[in-house]
Amino acid sequence: MWEAKIITAYPEMFPGVLGHSIIGNALFEKKWSLNTVNLHDFGIGERKGIDDSPFGGGPGMIIRPDVVEKAVINISLNLKKNMPLVYMSPTGKSLNQQDLEKFAKGDGIIILCGRFEGVDERAIDNLGFMQVSIGDYILSGGEVAAQVLVEGCVRLLPGVLGHSESILEESFSKNLLEYPQYTRPQVWVDSEKQKHHVPDILLSGHHDKIREWRKNKSIEKTKKNRPDLFKKIEKC
Ligand code: SAH
Repeated sequence: MWEAKIITAYPEMFPGVLGHSIIGNALFEKKWSLNTVNLHDFGIGERKGIDDSPFGGGPGMIIRPDVVEKAVINISLNLKKNMPLVYMSPTGKSLNQQDLEKFAKGDGIIILCGRFEGVDERAIDNLGFMQVSIGDYILSGGEVAAQVLVEGCVRLLPGVLGHSESILEESFSKNLLEYPQYTRPQVWVDSEKQKHHVPDILLSGHHDKIREWRKNKSIEKTKKNRPDLFKKIEKC
């Protein structure tokens, strides 16, 4: 079973979004498993401190490397599998769909969630962590980022999504964004009495033409919204 093990100072933030809807049902049906390890269980001294002020000065607190190591050792003790160690960090490699596919193919993932100003770099360098960012902005902790990473992986696991073909058509497969989608009503009359029609082609029943229309719309949307992605296609 694919496993997610989360090292965090706030285990009560889990399962969070991972306990709901398709991902939550899959957790309940034991299609994947989730465990948290509380950093405070490995705190130092009488006050069980997990953090301290930065050498060299500066604001905020840094999570201690010895505390992180104890938590990692504790997880590794009961581990028969080979699972990558990931530290969620804005200074890491930007997460993309290909990364999720790789993580989902493995046995699972061990994730360290930072807090405060982050984690002592020696822990990251010496305990074998890879660093993963979920985007160029700063959150106040790694817990939401970890939930993003795990949710993205779990929906790729076999048997989790009902229609596996939908995964193949989604945005970012082949570096293209998904085409626009429409549902009922066929004519939507908005609150200002404006009528909005669904594109005729989608009602035509011509599957080949619909496929072609969708492909063109995908290309159009990718060019407009993500020229960086579009360049990658042109290179292929
Ligand atoms: N001082 C750090 C930011 C610390 S934010 C810096 O400037 O780089 C506190 C924690 O939130 C981090 O340790 C990390 O675990 C998490 N976090 C914040 N932004 C994130 C992002 N974009 N991606 C992944 N994790 C993030």
